[in-house]
Amino acid sequence: MPKIFRASIMHTPQSPFAGGLLASYEDGALVIKNDEIIDLDDYAKIATKYPNAKTHSFKNSFILPGLIDTHVHYPQIPVIGAMGLRLLDWLEQRTLPAEAKLADRKIAKKQAKIFLKQLARNGTTTALVFGAHFATAMEEFFIQADKSKLRITAGLVLGDRLLHPDLYTSPQKAYSESKALIEKWHNKNRLRYAVTPRFSVSCSDEILAVCGKLLAEYPDLYFTTHINEQIEEIKLVKEQFGAPDYLETYEKHNLINERSILAHNVHPSDSELSRIARANAAVAHCPSSNMFIGSGLFNMLKHLEHRVKFGLGSDVGGGTGFSIFKEGLNSYQVQMLQKNQLDLGSSHLLYLASLAGAEALGLDTTVGSFEIGKKADFIVLKPQAKSTLAINLKYSSSAEDSLASIFTLARADAIKDVFVSGESVL
Ligand SMILES: [Zn+2]
Repeated sequence: MPKIFRASIMHTPQSPFAGGLLASYEDGALVIKNDEIIDLDDYAKIATKYPNAKTHSFKNSFILPGLIDTHVHYPQIPVIGAMGLRLLDWLEQRTLPAEAKLADRKIAKKQAKIFLKQLARNGTTTALVFGAHFATAMEEFFIQADKSKLRITAGLVLGDRLLHPDLYTSPQKAYSESKALIEKWHNKNRLRYAVTPRFSVSCSDEILAVCGKLLAEYPDLYFTTHINEQIEEIKLVKEQFGAPDYLETYEKHNLINERSILAHNVHPSDSELSRIARANAAVAHCPSSNMFIGSGLFNMLKHLEHRVKFGLGSDVGGGTGFSIFKEGLNSYQVQMLQKNQLDLGSSHLLYLASLAGAEALGLDTTVGSFEIGKKADFIVLKPQAKSTLAINLKYSSSAEDSLASIFTLARADAIKDVFVSGESVL
């Protein structure tokens, strides 16, 4: 029996960067059968078409696609708000000591549960999660991620130099521990595995070679890491590897392909952008983090010109929280601050927060918009009474206006329910 979800509905079936328009239904109805979307239209038409379907009506509410976070760190909730430090000092003084605590399996389990709940409460239904450096912590994480029913891709983080010493692995250990986690968790229910070297600064060629070996053995694995975040970091990588640029340190080990997602890319060369595009790899754009730790302003125009795919990432804890709405707002502000600013509207932000993330993660035939046949991943958003959002929305004169208000003002307290494959996960 189909189920009808009635509210004001918006989604982006096609990229607004390629001329796609916002699809909106002021009194809309999304029809779900089992775990899939089978119809979407004005409520009046749907009510006649499916007279026996059970209807869930949400008054003064919006239904939007589940939000997609392409870069967020499981161990880093305690680090949010660590002010006054740039990347390399921030890692050394605040982040790596916090990550070392996940050696304790009980702490890892507790943090995994809290972390996954925060994703859901912020409306995130799909995430590429940067894991922990300990196999036991990742085992706990995957157990909890499976229970959460969210769509999660993650992996054991690897590094063997310039880290807190407790976090070091060896090539042999990196290979055997990763392999065991892959065998157990990759493609289990909604989980997938991403080979995850921390970043070239912390990885010898031997560790990166292990990553290449794993990708060759399991061709449908994902790959994620950091790239071109801060100028000092890029200089260090070039010195360490004697490499012409940052990307080359990963390319050398065959790590860049259509299932590779590279976080940040704030300071890429044109050559790197061309090569990322040619490999059909993607970038995770994390604007709040880029501002908080002073990395710089993401050049969206160049990424578009080079046809590099990108989605949004919260980058907790360099970022300032889990809200992908806030990342959308920050991405807008970052473009406004640049001379070559793009004329972004709220439909671009919705696309970046949903379908673009799905495209970056190769999941766009499954989620990211409300096309018929996709999985029913969606959020119900209802502004709190007397909130600035509720008041502001009263002045809205179009769907685009309402969406702009949502990106500017809606946060976790406006998320009323969250559905993955038609089932509530809150
Ligand atoms: Zn990160």
